[in-house]
Amino acid sequence: MGSALADAALAGGLGLLIGSFLNVVIHRLPRTMYRGWLLDATANLAPQPGIPSLWELVFGKGTHAPGQLEQDAETALAQVDALPALTLARPGSRCGHCGHAIRWYENIPLLSWGVLRGRCSACGAAIGLRYPAVELVTGLLFGLCGWRFGLTPTAALWAAFCTILVCQFVIDLDTQLLPDSLNYLLLWLGLAGSAYGLTGVSPTSAIWGAVFGYLSLWTVYRLYRAATGKEGMGFGDFKLLAALGAWLGAPFLLALILMSSLVGALLGVVLLLVGRLANRHVPISFGPFLAGAGLLCLAIGPDRVRAWLPFAFPLGF
Ligand SMILES: [Zn+2]
Repeated sequence: MGSALADAALAGGLGLLIGSFLNVVIHRLPRTMYRGWLLDATANLAPQPGIPSLWELVFGKGTHAPGQLEQDAETALAQVDALPALTLARPGSRCGHCGHAIRWYENIPLLSWGVLRGRCSACGAAIGLRYPAVELVTGLLFGLCGWRFGLTPTAALWAAFCTILVCQFVIDLDTQLLPDSLNYLLLWLGLAGSAYGLTGVSPTSAIWGAVFGYLSLWTVYRLYRAATGKEGMGFGDFKLLAALGAWLGAPFLLALILMSSLVGALLGVVLLLVGRLANRHVPISFGPFLAGAGLLCLAIGPDRVRAWLPFAFPLGF
């Protein structure tokens, strides 16, 4: 037991550092996506020598975009192109309010936020509670992986599972996006992990989990759209459930859906308590509930989920 505690502490410490980095990913990944879309949109409209324009490809050879569209796109493209590089590593972390460059000792997980009492050292602007919260949750989840699996490849793989889901949870809550780059990474890792026997799920079950995870929500989406004319979910949700199915196996899909409604209710209560529900101008999408259900499944342990929710495993798997 002593060594399990040591493993948990070591993994948890690493988790705090990773959580600090996740705050950067959560902030920056959507912004690099927005910039990429704007770049694509303007580049597709601006005329390029030797390449037929998008307008020509849609409306036929010899046609031209109306008015100033192509010239304006060219001007806009130059502006987007001239922006300084934005990657996960560069530029370094800055205060979102005054631009003060965060020094290394102001960036120590949990500690710095506590010492600075949640304020920027230069301008005094509030630093949200979510920064230490993301660090703490990631640290606890890593600690749990270390506790349960020791310092093993299995623990590292499940820590990667947690890392990606924490990102998807907060990014979707912020922006209603579930980046493909993270969904696919989660899916491939789940399939590869099962092929290596690290997730405890057979490759067959992992593959069917991914297939039915995608198709089940896709079917719900099509039916809902046919019945109401509205879109209740996005393709990111299908991909995320597919990825979770690859990690936990096909029999867990129903349990994941049930647990995501539980997470949704819990999240609603938390947001209500901190007063963030009333002033939200966009509804919460399904992604955070799914990501939360995946994390909850790991935290409780798949065997206990099976024991506690027997009705979610009706086919006797
Ligand atoms: Zn500042």
